[in-house]
Amino acid sequence: MTRATRDHILNRIDAVADEAIAFLREFARTDTSNPPGDTRAGAALIADLLRRKGAAFETIAPQADMPNLVSSFAFARPGRHLVLNGHIDVFPPGPRELWARDPLSGDLEGGRVHGRGTVDMKCGTTALIFAYLLLREMEGDIAGKVTLTVVSDEETGGRWGSGYLLEHHADRVLGDVLLNAEPSSPWTVRFGEKAPAWFRFRIRTPGAHSAYAHLSRSATRIAARLMLDLERLEDLVPTPPEPVRALLSVPATERAIERAMGRGAVGSLNRVTVNFGLIAGGVKINLLPGECTLEADIRMPVGTTSAEIAAEVRRIAAVYPEVAVEEMIGTPVDPTCSDPGHEMVGLLCDAAASLQGERPAPIVTLGGTDCRFWRQRGVPAFVFGPSPDSMGVPNESVSVDEFLLVLRTHTLAASRYLATPSGPAGAGRGAAR
Ligand SMILES: [Zn+2]
Repeated sequence: MTRATRDHILNRIDAVADEAIAFLREFARTDTSNPPGDTRAGAALIADLLRRKGAAFETIAPQADMPNLVSSFAFARPGRHLVLNGHIDVFPPGPRELWARDPLSGDLEGGRVHGRGTVDMKCGTTALIFAYLLLREMEGDIAGKVTLTVVSDEETGGRWGSGYLLEHHADRVLGDVLLNAEPSSPWTVRFGEKAPAWFRFRIRTPGAHSAYAHLSRSATRIAARLMLDLERLEDLVPTPPEPVRALLSVPATERAIERAMGRGAVGSLNRVTVNFGLIAGGVKINLLPGECTLEADIRMPVGTTSAEIAAEVRRIAAVYPEVAVEEMIGTPVDPTCSDPGHEMVGLLCDAAASLQGERPAPIVTLGGTDCRFWRQRGVPAFVFGPSPDSMGVPNESVSVDEFLLVLRTHTLAASRYLATPSGPAGAGRGAAR
């Protein structure tokens, strides 16, 4: 057993570091590309580790090839319920020739583990699994319950993964707070996220020969005008909760946002962005197009809603009788946001600052994570993970130092959250700082 104090926890992490790195490499060598989304081999690897460590778990697989694993551990004294969430599936590697080494190499070279999905999010998932195993060993100043959820289907919407668990097993996986280790960078802790709204516009006109331009309107010209009109969505002014607005406009926070997500990220974070990811129309140069399809990925900031955006999109498209609008996400998703003043934000920032000498800034993130499923049900959810630099691109690799930082930060923050809130153990909480 391990006493839940900072020194004991860090010593234990040092003792298991090699094993955790070896597991991460093995995980990276296991193909869990999504699509197709078959994660059975990855889940089997994790199940084997849990079994070897004596951690009972349940496999919940509403789709046979997309299993989810759930394991819980209750400490001797009752208390709060902390849930950890990571995903098994990863982006597909894409063309092999763009990679300098096998996307499934799991090579450890230059202080980095190489392979598809190492950043998003095999590093974070492995860190949470080992944090869970370490928490189970703890005794003394710790109470409550911790649940590990390792899921599939994250990259394709979460319907059969976290979404399914919360819909059908909420009593087991909802908890009081959620920790997730998706890429965030060591300089940010993420308490909210933008949300996508996807629309398909089908434009149909009679069409004609190019020379007979008087006979039909052009579907591609209508698409071009529609695109300009839809771009005006970027001028909408979001109304985030005041503490969030104030926090995100602090200069130090803006610097952390751009350091983590690239120059210009502040501009993308606080406004609606519109991307026309696909446009397809016309048959031949000398035919006036009678058909054009346009797909728009609209990213909504905190302080907007999917209903508001959808209404605006339909109002814009209604100007063109030739345009039919279709929402491509079955159940619209709103941006989600937890309280940036929540105790867990402070615990994550304290832990990371104590380890790296620099305090992360609490921010909202651009991309989506499974945290939204918990936030939608009122449970605060927070992300601390590795740098997103090579996420989803060829030659993806994660720094071993960052992997260990993520493992240490989550384990320290989790142990302090679960420390008894009052009584003689209070001294122990201080010691765990
Ligand atoms: Zn991810």
